[in-house]
Amino acid sequence: MYNSKAYSAASATSPLAHTTIARRDPTEHDVQIEILFCGICHSDLHTVRDEWHSMMPTAYPCVPGHEIVGRVTRVGSAVARFKPGDLASVGCLVDSDRTCPECQAGLEQFCPNMTLTYSFPDKHLGGVTYGGYSDSIVVDEHFVLRVPANLDLAGAAPLLCAGVTTYSPMRHWGVTKGKKVGVVGLGGLGHMGVKFAHALGAHVVVFTTSPSKKDDALRLGADEVVVSRNADEMQKHAGSFDFILDAVSADHDINAYIQLLRRDGNLTLVGAPEKPLAVSSFGLLFARRSLSGSLIGGIAETQEMLDFCGAHNITADVEVIPIQKVNEAYERLLKSDVKYRFSIDMASLKSE
Ligand code: NAP
Ligand code: ZN
Repeated sequence: MYNSKAYSAASATSPLAHTTIARRDPTEHDVQIEILFCGICHSDLHTVRDEWHSMMPTAYPCVPGHEIVGRVTRVGSAVARFKPGDLASVGCLVDSDRTCPECQAGLEQFCPNMTLTYSFPDKHLGGVTYGGYSDSIVVDEHFVLRVPANLDLAGAAPLLCAGVTTYSPMRHWGVTKGKKVGVVGLGGLGHMGVKFAHALGAHVVVFTTSPSKKDDALRLGADEVVVSRNADEMQKHAGSFDFILDAVSADHDINAYIQLLRRDGNLTLVGAPEKPLAVSSFGLLFARRSLSGSLIGGIAETQEMLDFCGAHNITADVEVIPIQKVNEAYERLLKSDVKYRFSIDMASLKSE
């Protein structure tokens, strides 16, 4: 075991503060990574504040962070794919059983025995797993991803969650040229959704509650922007979408979007608001529309997404912050005031 610097929350109402945590020494299949950048996902905020208590209660102290990019510092004797000095990245998963049907299908995110990167039972050290708001992490090589060399590292970190969470359902639901695709909520996930839908050739419409984000949405790849609080603007798109990705972090009316789908259209929720959403069955019955959810992506698909980003030069638009600004960043996240992902420069942890 060795000590690592980190930021943790002691309870649902405590701010994140500097701490020291224990990390395991790499075992034969492990990769030790010096963390260079870690994105701030809204799931970090939901977890730190225990907003998902009824589904996944948070274990404290909580060290969040699952959008990790860094450099390999040490590898175990059986590690073949990484060597010290390589760039490496880690997303929301650090382990799974690798034998169940989900793992065999490359869908480790649905493995009943998966281990999430933070606030999950730690099989090695006991206690819970600690995430990327830290200067280093040790992860089994199966869950370590390669970072294309041409990508900016601060902007690549958010690909590990916001990227794959939006890429995966778009691939699953066949987003391609000729499809009309909506993205609801222009935050960290939403802005990646716009970039992917555009790169896949779809006609992209952004729905936002923030009129000030209109120009950015067009720059990011949207063909049209609708301010969702304007009912007339919404109505113009009734019955016309093949697919809508809903990436909203708070309570909102999803029926307003379901009625924008065409026959057999699908709305996929990736946002995970604290409270259940109300769904009118009528919107689904008429036109045989469907409503589904999607959780991050499997390991192979995460690598596929990173390679796609390398080929298309796609990264997140980030505001790089020192870790000392993390609590302020959370408050800004709640006000939809981020363009469009905070990425923590972990060099700032050295001064703690
Ligand atoms: P974020 O950066 O805070 O973006 C959320 C966006 O939702 C905001 O920018 C805002 O966009 C919109 N919004 C916020 N409050 C709203 C309200 N009251 N009504 C309508 N729209 C509102 O968050 P994120 O990191 O992208 O995460 C989004 C959600 O996805 C979170 O719930 C997160 O936990 C979840 N998530 C799920 C997965 C998964 O695997 N399924 C993975 C990662 C995150 P506008 O300003 O454009 O309206
Ligand atoms: Zn996330």
